[in-house]
Amino acid sequence: MTPGSPRTPYHELTARLDSCNVPPQLKDQILKCAQFHTSPAPGVLIGAFMVDYAMELLGLTADEKLFGVCETPKCLPDALQVIARCTTGNNRLKVVPIGKFAITLNAATNGFTADAIRVYVDLKKLKKFPIIDMWYANSPDYDKKTMDGKLQTEIFRAGRKILSSERVRIRVAGKRKWKPVTCPGCGETVPDYLIEGDHCGACGSMKYYETIG
Ligand SMILES: [Zn+2]
Repeated sequence: MTPGSPRTPYHELTARLDSCNVPPQLKDQILKCAQFHTSPAPGVLIGAFMVDYAMELLGLTADEKLFGVCETPKCLPDALQVIARCTTGNNRLKVVPIGKFAITLNAATNGFTADAIRVYVDLKKLKKFPIIDMWYANSPDYDKKTMDGKLQTEIFRAGRKILSSERVRIRVAGKRKWKPVTCPGCGETVPDYLIEGDHCGACGSMKYYETIG
């Protein structure tokens, strides 16, 4: 698979990164994010700068066990998955659908809270980057067909200049002990803490399929 959507061929993306003097290591990470995401969507590109910034502020690399929270399910989680290696599968990524372009990142802790770094897109700083501002505001004036390239260039030029950070304390869920419970509805087994009354989620509020034989 080649990073870059049909709208943005790979060589155009790398040329833009080079022309904006994005450091080589970060450039590699950005290309990996685009590949993983299956397109160089603006959100995942900005996300790469956000995760890189948060890791630097924490003073940690992806070799450490990092934990991330993402405040939107769109694009941004993939930057945390690729760069910080917080994934849904390793349970170190939590996605909270608040609808903000923001993340927190923290190191492993034994306590019930953790000191984290929160990085967010700062609306005040966006004013200096009119195309990003237009795209971010979902403005009808933003035209994907003609402005995608300009938007990428502006994102690479802006880098961290559109971001702000703060130190925050977050609640941490410890590891739970659990026992299996067999659901009387489907005969399948789930951990006891996920049972809803006496049925599993798929036979209850999380029902999402019907058997069609
Ligand atoms: Zn069930």
